[in-house]
This record gives sequence, structure tokens and C-alpha cells, in this order.
Amino acid sequence: MVDQTVNVTLTEDTKQKPVAEQLEFGRVFTDHMFIMDYIEGKGWHNPRIVPYQPVTLDPAAIVFHYGQTVFEGLKAYVTKDGEARLFRPEKNMQRLNRSNERMCIPHLDEDVALNAIKQLVSLERDWIPTAPGTSLYIRPFIISTESYLGVAPSKTYQFLVILSPVGAYYKEGINPVKIAVEDEFVRAVKGGTGEAKTAGNYASSLKAQELVSDKGYAQVLWLDGLEKKYIEEVGSMNVFFKINGEVVTPALNGSILEGVTRNSVIRLLNHWDIPVAERKISMEEVYEAYEKGLLEEAFGAGTAAVISPIGELSWKGEQLIINDRVTGSVSKRLYDTLTGIQYGTEEDPFGWIE
Ligand code: PMP
Repeated sequence: MVDQTVNVTLTEDTKQKPVAEQLEFGRVFTDHMFIMDYIEGKGWHNPRIVPYQPVTLDPAAIVFHYGQTVFEGLKAYVTKDGEARLFRPEKNMQRLNRSNERMCIPHLDEDVALNAIKQLVSLERDWIPTAPGTSLYIRPFIISTESYLGVAPSKTYQFLVILSPVGAYYKEGINPVKIAVEDEFVRAVKGGTGEAKTAGNYASSLKAQELVSDKGYAQVLWLDGLEKKYIEEVGSMNVFFKINGEVVTPALNGSILEGVTRNSVIRLLNHWDIPVAERKISMEEVYEAYEKGLLEEAFGAGTAAVISPIGELSWKGEQLIINDRVTGSVSKRLYDTLTGIQYGTEEDPFGWIE
């Protein structure tokens, strides 16, 4: 870091804030954004908050052609004491640097990045919606900006943070969804970029998602890229199964993104003395458990939905109906506790809110 003082230029033109009932995910952005530049040799410099505006790049910028880019996603909540709080933001900063490592992007100072986020959120405090279930979504990201068509890491980058007020994920209460097990397309492979939060993983997931949406499924369940046997993730969430009293989630293997929610779920289950295992789990094993009546619950876990119960899994022409399509007790307890900690209505035994 050459210069750590964040230069602030305020907008002269504040935007109309959306009404809470009309909020969607990621369509409206606040008045300001954060930017910082990187040049090889000089490092990260010129951190600034400026009015929200388009980014102007050379058409040959590496990010447009080869997707050398990473991003993060976290939320700010107004807690019951009226304060704006973040949920475990240092985990997102650590993951951003792990993604940087994989994508040959220079590391960021995690404290500098987190302070920038806090300063921007505090400036945009009035944009954080307060209706139940609403929050301010924070999208930090890094783009490679060098104009060069050779396939090589960029020598220049920009780190940006934009903010978007978002509506409640569950407008009519937490509701189990239908999931299709994907046995043609894969999200990621071992040795690939699955464990990095980088654009290409999401671009390559669109086709499978499009095909199953047309058939009425909410998301796909991704299997491993080699044998299409072991379960990896659900949509863009980590996945958990409760089988005969034990909660199982796929072990991190290089192709799974390590979710902050996943880690929080495991910590809470341990805290409650509910058995939890991180290991390989195949679709055959889930099916066998289902046949024996031992598949008690299944759910996705991620920042957007927090907990998303799975009511039905479609696999090889079979429909596995889970817990009569009703939210299971562990899923419900996790959802209530995590959202309670986030909104400050539950005790925060781990110090996750800051
Ligand atoms: N897997 C993928 C592929 C994701 O995009 C996300 C969302 N970041 C997750 C899992 C869940 O991660 P988190 O709990 O940190 O939101």
C-alpha cells in the first residue's frame, strides 16, 4: 500500500431509494462506490470513494477476454440496536485472497479492504433497508484492466466495492424447493477453479440452470466432474444432508467453494452437539438412505438464502420427497439462529457480528 487514506468524493445527485416491498436481488445500487488501483511495481494505491458510475476500460482489457477476475458477496444488516453490522466479513476477505491466489491476482491487505467496505457501508447507512429479512448486499470484486490480448496475468487491476439493497429472500416464509441432480454438466473439477469465487464458474453454470428452470426446478445439484458420483454443491450454495441423525456435507476437495455459511452451520451444529461430518457423499448413498427412510433433511447454505431446504430431489427419473416437503427441524433451527445472530435478536456466542 502506497497510500491508505481513502479519498471521498460525494455525489451531487442522490438517487431515490427503493421501497422495501419492491426490492429484488441486485438490481438497485447505492449512491457511491469504492475503487482502488493496482499497478505492478507500485502495488495497490489510490483508494477512493466516488459517486456510483460506469467503469471505463480499454476493449482489450484482459478481464473481457480471459476472465481474470474474482468477487465476494456478503451482507450488512441493521440490527435491533439500530446499528449497521457485517456478518463474519473477515472470512470473505480471506476467501478473496484465496481466490486471488488461484487467479494470479495480487493479494489485497485484508484490513485495508475490510475498512474500505466499512467506510462505504457507513457512508451509505441510509440505504440499508430495515424491513424484516432485508439487507444491504456488498459486492467487492477485482478486475484485470491491462489492455493486452496475450494470455498472461494482467499487470494492472482495479478493486471495486458496490452496494445493493436487497429484499427478503423468503417473502412468504422459508419454503422447501425442488432440485434436479445434474448428471450431464459439471460446475468444476479438481484442479480447476471451483474453489475460487471467479466469474467463469458462474458463466459455465448457466446452461444447466437454464435447462432445469424450464422444467420447474429451482436449482441443480452438482456432482463431481470426474465420475459424476459424489455430491458437490447445490446451485451456488453448499449442501447438507441429515441422514439418520447425522448431518453430512461434502468435504472441501478443491472444486467446492468454501462458504462462510457452510462454516457457520458446522460451528453451530458442533455447538449444539448435533453430529456433523465433512466427507465424500455420493448420490447412491443419499438414495439408499432415502429408500430406508433415513434421509431426514437436505438443505443448501449460502449468504443469499442463509438456509434453503430441499423438498424434492429428482435423480435418474426418481423423485425423492424429503420430509414431506416440509422444512426440517435442524434446517429451521439453523435458519432462525443464523438470521437471529445477523439481525441481533439472538445471542452471538461466537462474535460473528461486527
Ligand atoms: N458455493 C458457491 C458456488 C457460491 O457462489 C456461494 C456463494 N458465495 C456459496 C457456495 C456459499 O458461500 P457463502 O456461504 O459464503 O455465501
